[in-house]
Amino acid sequence: MERGKDICYSCGKVQEYLTMADVTEDGFEIYCDDCHPNKKIIPQLIKLADDIASTRFMDYPDYDEDNPITTLPEALTIFVQESMRNHDEIDLTEVYDEFEKLLG
Ligand SMILES: [Zn+2]
Repeated sequence: MERGKDICYSCGKVQEYLTMADVTEDGFEIYCDDCHPNKKIIPQLIKLADDIASTRFMDYPDYDEDNPITTLPEALTIFVQESMRNHDEIDLTEVYDEFEKLLG
């Protein structure tokens, strides 16, 4: 008897059973690594951070258009910096609100 396979809900790629990640609790929407929403959001975050850094380059003296934001740590640094713009300490509510504003 043939074993079950996981089929990506997004691209239809087939993998070994139980090797793909569930997004919903009912286990119906499963995604391969390339299509997992948590991974797909990363290029989006990097693009957003690059947009912020390039339009507010005065606030980011290290930013260089020839050397754009390309990694997640760089992008997250920009977001945290944005959220503490007018604060001495990190306000986590501000960080959350900033992410919600950017991604919502
Ligand atoms: Zn896929």
